[in-house]
Amino acid sequence: MNKNPSSGPRYRGIRDIFRGQILIKYLAAVIFLLPLSVLAQLPIEVGAHEDGRKLTGLAEIWHDVDGTSDLGAAREAYLRGKFQPLDSAGSTGLQPGAFWSRFALKNTTDSPLTLHIEYVDHQLIGLEAFARRLADGADFRRIGGMSLSDPFSAREVSHNRFVFELMLPPGATNELLVKFSSDELGVVFPSMRIWDPKSLQAASKLEAGVMAFLFGGYFLMSIFALIGGITSRGSIFYIYSIYSASKIAVWCTILGYTHQYLITEHFHWSYMSFAGAVTILCGLVFSRRFLQTRSYTPRLDYLLRFMLANAVFLLVCALLKLTALSVISITIALLLYPLIVIVAFVRWRQGYKEAVVFALAWGLLVFGLVVQAMRDLGYVEHNFINYYWPPVASFFEMLTIMAAIGLMVRRLRSLKEQAEKKYTEQLEVSKAQLEQQVQLRTRELKDAKERAEQEARTDPLTGIFNRRSFFAEGEHLLKLAQRKHFPLSLLMLDIDHFKSINDEHGHATGDLALRAFSRAIATHIRDIDVFGRIGGEEFALLLSEKRQGALDTAQRLRREIASIELDTAGEPLRFTASIGIAHFQQQADIDELLHMADCALYQAKRQGRDRIVEFSEAEQVAEAEASE
Ligand code: GH3
Ligand code: MG
Ligand code: MG
Repeated sequence: MNKNPSSGPRYRGIRDIFRGQILIKYLAAVIFLLPLSVLAQLPIEVGAHEDGRKLTGLAEIWHDVDGTSDLGAAREAYLRGKFQPLDSAGSTGLQPGAFWSRFALKNTTDSPLTLHIEYVDHQLIGLEAFARRLADGADFRRIGGMSLSDPFSAREVSHNRFVFELMLPPGATNELLVKFSSDELGVVFPSMRIWDPKSLQAASKLEAGVMAFLFGGYFLMSIFALIGGITSRGSIFYIYSIYSASKIAVWCTILGYTHQYLITEHFHWSYMSFAGAVTILCGLVFSRRFLQTRSYTPRLDYLLRFMLANAVFLLVCALLKLTALSVISITIALLLYPLIVIVAFVRWRQGYKEAVVFALAWGLLVFGLVVQAMRDLGYVEHNFINYYWPPVASFFEMLTIMAAIGLMVRRLRSLKEQAEKKYTEQLEVSKAQLEQQVQLRTRELKDAKERAEQEARTDPLTGIFNRRSFFAEGEHLLKLAQRKHFPLSLLMLDIDHFKSINDEHGHATGDLALRAFSRAIATHIRDIDVFGRIGGEEFALLLSEKRQGALDTAQRLRREIASIELDTAGEPLRFTASIGIAHFQQQADIDELLHMADCALYQAKRQGRDRIVEFSEAEQVAEAEASE
């Protein structure tokens, strides 16, 4: 800071770095269409209508580094020529202590004038004004004084900024000494606006309208976001809602409305830092969340975390009213603000489309802050536009962010719809696949079951009914014959001298013979007939035929069997079979019938084989008697 109070306003720090850069200076001046102050010491001529366009920026100033000087000290400093013209566009920049400003106002009318002299910015702690009439050589008298720490009601002119009243007799020229002070570091603007009371009141009304619009906008955005959060359960909406609400708090405080309407008694300027810290904190939390920096730009996210930590630090400093640390912290915070624009661009380059809208939003805010900094550092003169530019930029920032959120929600919804569609499609495909598999498996099981049933019913060697099935099917047919009274004959067939086939030609040839035999019979009977292998080389055939029909069939079968020729190493092998027949005459079951046929078969064997014998009761009896 300024270590040499006697050397006048020699400012160092950020402002000095910029001061040399003529281009920036003039560019800024052109941008804001405002000329730099012309230096002069002539009295400022005032009339009945003063609309605030005249500024006291033409004044000479003296920097009292300690800020302890009183009127006497200021007068002495003036006599010693310590007052120097202010060589900026109306700001001394970031300086400690107090500034004394000297200027003269001349009433050019012939009636007394009441003027309202308005301090043009908000970052001031205290103000004291003294005036004297030049002509009569009278001494300075205190005409006004106010401090941020005083109750708002103590102000002579009720205004959100510092305003004091000055009476000018007709034609009189008054010399004024105004002290602007800040506790430690502060931005001081000796430029003041000159108003007639009515004009100031009208301007205040316009201002109030603009502010109502801005704050109303913030408020609505906050409420919309809150509703959005409740309905969509997206936490990003809640954060945005808080962020929006915090904007009202910060701008109300910075622009002086909090002191005017809310904390009228014990306002402290650290509330500005506090409100700023809350907004910065909310803004950072929201940005990190919206840009998903933790996942997608982890390195830049470290910087954002540092910024977050700094914002928390600022909050603590503000709470503890550590002014110097607060100023350092808030300077760091604002200097790092553009970083968020960069992060947003990085995210955009990564393919996150809404990030470019976000970058635009944050760019607006940063631009607003740059305007404020240019103004505060004295590169551009204070005016209505650049005074309200930061909150207006902030307003458009909020609007743009809202648009970005809308785009984000739209993208998320379309992603969700796509995912749902894909999911449904996949579900359908897998359902079809599952159905196909089930069908296949069912068919396989059915086939296997049928195969198993078939296997259980048939004789593996010959493929005809096995003993069990023959009995089951035979019994069924027998019952049917009993009920419907149709004829039934049971044939018992046995290959003659089968053992010798096995012995002479081998077991395999024996099997071959069994198969050929079965085939020969199976192909010559009807579907309704029941044919099965009931023993090694013993077969049974249940024919639904009358006696003669059965005998004819038996004969035909016997001949068929006799005509079978089996391929062997030597001559074709031939064999015969004996057949016993029993005719159904209301016997109880198949066993009985089988037994009768077996007896007849026995007879056929006895009688020389290759023949057919019918069962006869009489013969059986005779046989039995003969054997006794
Ligand atoms: P017969 O003229 O009195 O009927 O004399 P046979 O030699 O045919 O005597 P029998 O009917 O008692 O013979 C049964 C033989 O059938 C005994 C057994 O070795 C043979 N055999 C039983 N099952 C099979 C089989 O599945 N395959 C073969 N190759 N032989 C069998
Ligand atoms: Mg036998
Ligand atoms: Mg036999």
